[in-house]
Amino acid sequence: MKIAFIGLGNMGGGMAANLVRAGGAVTAFDLSAAALEKAAAAGCRPGASAAEALEGAAVVITMLPAGAQVRQVYAEAVLPHAPVGALLIDCSTIDVESARAVAGEATALGFRFADAPVSGGITGAEAGTLAFMVGCPEGDFAAVQEAVAPMARTVIRAGDHGAGQAAKICNNMVLGVSMIAVCEAFALAEKLGLEPERFYEIASQSSAQCWSLTTYCPWPGPVPTAPSNRGYEGGFATAMMLKDLKLAQEAAAKAGAAAPLGAAAEGLYALFERLGGGPKDFSAIVELLRGRWRGD
Ligand code: NAD
Repeated sequence: MKIAFIGLGNMGGGMAANLVRAGGAVTAFDLSAAALEKAAAAGCRPGASAAEALEGAAVVITMLPAGAQVRQVYAEAVLPHAPVGALLIDCSTIDVESARAVAGEATALGFRFADAPVSGGITGAEAGTLAFMVGCPEGDFAAVQEAVAPMARTVIRAGDHGAGQAAKICNNMVLGVSMIAVCEAFALAEKLGLEPERFYEIASQSSAQCWSLTTYCPWPGPVPTAPSNRGYEGGFATAMMLKDLKLAQEAAAKAGAAAPLGAAAEGLYALFERLGGGPKDFSAIVELLRGRWRGD
């Protein structure tokens, strides 16, 4: 099957590689030459432009930073150049409004569209074990499931267009809050003279166990694949986490929902970004909470 993949960053790179491994003919495009080169090394055919990457594609997957880029790539490339009948799947995490707007434009032109954001981080992207939260009409779900299967451990239909993004925003609010809680606990354990490795061993088998601790441990050592072991480079950037927490707060304000811990997490990540932490993985906030952050 011919697949066009646009946006080959931290997440998209690993996802496209898994489509290739499963036998897909993947044509890739990214504004970054380095990202495109990496995708080519993984077996994708690099396109000279987004429009060229779309030629002959039965499935079009986008994995872009935020709503603005998705709207732009859809308006300038995907909607004018995707082949008739193509299945369009946006895996980026974006605001519900942008997802519904793009879905409306795509379906008006006769395309099938799904918002299908993911959870599982770069390790999940590389291993092909992401959780997909899908917003699409019921009748399109089987095709979406089949298209994303090589990248997925779980594919769940959240509801109609926009519901995938709603699920993702709620999920990431939990993630932002839980990461800060885990970081605070490590910082406190250190001050109390408890060895961080012992704290990990105990907490990972006790009621503090959670994804932020045992899959993505912010303290270097216990989880070798976590960004904490490589200077908090790569992974899920603080700026991206802040974007998601803002989306959650905006959605909460509009819907009249109370999310005070989400607001506190947004405030802390906003501070960390202002102090230079934006490009670092979001688990680097442990350095701020330990009083060690020097801005590099
Ligand atoms: P990233 O910044 O590493 O990758 C985004 C890529 O999109 C970059 O390579 C960039 O050059 C490219 N791009 C931007 N504008 C473009 C355009 N107009 N045309 C073509 N390419 C363009 O980001 P990421 O970490 O891969 O995240 C991508 C999305 O996935 C975000 O919405 C993020 O919130 C979400 N997400 C990330 C993670 C994670 O752990 N990194 C986990 C789940 C979801």
